[in-house]
Amino acid sequence: EEEAIRRRPKALENDGFDTLREASRQEYLKKREQKKLDELRDDIEDEQYLFQGEKLTETEYREQRYKKEIYELVKKRTEESGYTNDEYRMPDAYDDVEGGVNQKKRFDVALQRYRDPVAADEKMNPFAEQEAWEEHQIGKATLKFGSKDIKKQQKYDDYEFVFGDFIKAAVMDGVNVDQEELLSSVPSPTVKTTFEKIQSDRKTLPVYPYREELLRAINDHQILVIVGETGSGKTTQIPQYLHEAGYTSRGKIACTQPRRVAAMSVAARVSQEMGVKLGHEVGYSIRFEDCTSEKTILKYMTDGMLLREFLGEPDLASYSVVMVDEAHERTLSTDILFGLVKDIARFRPDLKLLISSATLDAEKFSDYFDSAPIFKIPGRRFPVEIHYTKAPEADYLDAAIVTALQIHATQPPGDGDILIFLTGQEEIETVDEILKHRTRGLGTNIAELIICPIYANLPTELQSKIFEPTPQGARKVVLATNIAETSLTIDGIKYVIDPGFVKMKSYNPRTGMESLLVTPISKASANQRAGRSGRTGPGKCFRLYTAYNYYNDLDDNTVPEIQRTNLANVVLSLKSLGINDLLNFDFMDPPPSEALLKALELLYALSALNKHGELTKLGRRMAEFPLDPMLSKMIVASDKYQCSNEAITIAAMLCIGNSIFYRPKDKQVHADNARVNFHMGNVGDHMALLKVYNSWKDTNFSTQWCYENYIQVRSMKRARDIRDQLEGLLERVEIEITTNPNDLDAIKKAITSGLFPHSAKLQMNGSYRSLKHPQTVHIHPSSGLAQVLPRWVVYHELVQTTKEYMRHVTQLKPEWLVEIAPHYYHLKD
Ligand code: ADP
Ligand code: MG
Repeated sequence: EEEAIRRRPKALENDGFDTLREASRQEYLKKREQKKLDELRDDIEDEQYLFQGEKLTETEYREQRYKKEIYELVKKRTEESGYTNDEYRMPDAYDDVEGGVNQKKRFDVALQRYRDPVAADEKMNPFAEQEAWEEHQIGKATLKFGSKDIKKQQKYDDYEFVFGDFIKAAVMDGVNVDQEELLSSVPSPTVKTTFEKIQSDRKTLPVYPYREELLRAINDHQILVIVGETGSGKTTQIPQYLHEAGYTSRGKIACTQPRRVAAMSVAARVSQEMGVKLGHEVGYSIRFEDCTSEKTILKYMTDGMLLREFLGEPDLASYSVVMVDEAHERTLSTDILFGLVKDIARFRPDLKLLISSATLDAEKFSDYFDSAPIFKIPGRRFPVEIHYTKAPEADYLDAAIVTALQIHATQPPGDGDILIFLTGQEEIETVDEILKHRTRGLGTNIAELIICPIYANLPTELQSKIFEPTPQGARKVVLATNIAETSLTIDGIKYVIDPGFVKMKSYNPRTGMESLLVTPISKASANQRAGRSGRTGPGKCFRLYTAYNYYNDLDDNTVPEIQRTNLANVVLSLKSLGINDLLNFDFMDPPPSEALLKALELLYALSALNKHGELTKLGRRMAEFPLDPMLSKMIVASDKYQCSNEAITIAAMLCIGNSIFYRPKDKQVHADNARVNFHMGNVGDHMALLKVYNSWKDTNFSTQWCYENYIQVRSMKRARDIRDQLEGLLERVEIEITTNPNDLDAIKKAITSGLFPHSAKLQMNGSYRSLKHPQTVHIHPSSGLAQVLPRWVVYHELVQTTKEYMRHVTQLKPEWLVEIAPHYYHLKD
């Protein structure tokens, strides 16, 4: 692993800071010379404290000059950085272009698409102009970013650096604000061993004074709903209290998290608090990664993993407590878990069930769990000032960066860190890069800005960086996805920058199309985000949207995932748990019936269900794989074509998604050439992935080989782990490992056996038409077949950006469809 990190090419490294510092030092030395000369001149001006024609006091004058200096530096750096003009534009950048869509309209469209994807799809594509951008962008793959808006530059010319571009609109009251007491409860940094310090820190958490009361409530009631502000200690403390109170002598304690990163990070923290090795008494379990052992008594796990445990242990007999944490997130798996745990609680009176959540909408949980009592942990939060922009931002990434730099430049270092909410890894990497560029050259004029990204795919060793205390005289800026909204608590945040968007799944049950869309957040989310700034002192939240947007455009709450997702996987799991009557399953909020029907239809097409809707033998085997049912089907079907070895490799590579190839900015051509090699012979994307994996394997999993071929070694190692596990599962469903590397058609037939519901035929105009649900789709520009345009294809998934794109495409012969799925496809007479 260390080797891998060392060899990671420069472009991917996270610590360009040393070079940045050196460059800025040089620049600073040069500037100092110049400054000496300027100062001579300035001295005369100084006496009058005149600034742009206005007479100021000396302090005001100095402040303005300082701001101006910083401003000039930021501006100059931006201009020099090469990040100018058209190199990178957010789709929204077109908003303020004549004929483009404006922010309000975009907001509306995004909202509508999210609320009613069917109707939105039928409307004309309002993003037509972005297509050029899309093409250009996908071709480039490495993101760059430019502040291109001259108007915006002028907007800042008044040097009103502090918060001039925002309207302070409201103050979110602190909860339980006795500031004196609050401040004194923040632990003082006396010298202690780390372990002692951790133990005393535990006692400062809001939940601590309620320890006994809480334990009593848990003792008295089988089901308890627990509500408390983020950071009050629910996730890390309650399982420990239960352990200390002896609950673990009767069985394990499960604590579910909607996010992988949260499960890992919290488990790491708790093992540290308990002074044990991670994976021993305290462990975590996430898909394809089990870090637990025989000894494990506190098990943090994703909600999806607990769901899978029901398959092997339908009454969860080995657990004494199940804590469904972050219940307010209402992920698909959490919602299904609600129904299952409610059911087993009825015949397992010894099982304790805790439903914990961050928001105050606890009545709904209580009602659902037969009026379970609600335990409120009195929160602590300092007041938070909410600021809105005066006008909609055309480009929220740029706005976020500028706001962060303004805060950093004008507020004393050491008074608090900054947290920016972004929608995903790509955005985070972009902002990371731009911030580094723009702060370079500011030299000693400005305190050091430590940039800490956090998102699901970030290597674990870098994740812990966000929790490290900020060194004196520096400021931390955390670039996070929604994970920092409630799942992870980062201490010391004083400023929150909230662009108002989140990447969210949406599903069109009619076409069966699922896509990740950047969507406006809900009011509940916006308030959670704001609250993150008031944990250790009074905070400020900068919303990069207007108060009008907030009040009129944002929904009150996020729609639960179950109502906007593909249910095939869940339906298969429920069926294999013996739950046949899905329409009468005890859902907290039932999914749309079309979505249920769609899932049943797909599982029937894949022969996982028979025509009475009962699980078939094939379906039972498919359910063993923690994969999309189409991929499970591909694996099970590969037995027939004697290529299970190839099928599990392809499935493992597809699980990794898009982080296999990379294109460093300065070596794009090399990277593209390397990539073309794997597509030789137009074999299709699935075969290309297989080729990548096998070539790596042939070099004995060499890191050097990855480096030379512009392949991310970290992703490959993950693929290898996943593949190993799939191999184990093959054994469980009694499929032999067979290999058939030279029979291309056999492998493609196995692929088709899983993906046939996703088939499409080429049209005259170069687009495709999907066979089952007539709609127009395109081959994704990143596909090896994008230029080839075969007549018939199957694809792994559709992604919707400006068009509906098929990603991971393989060519097929139409007669295979009839051969493989005669119940689904018929020959026309
Ligand atoms: P809740 O679940 O109520 O939101 P947590 O139990 O997650 O609260 O967090 C309680 C406190 O534990 C946080 O305020 C933070 O100081 C600390 N903490 C949590 N996770 C970590 C971590 N990975 N590293 C360091 N400190 C952490
Ligand atoms: Mg928590």
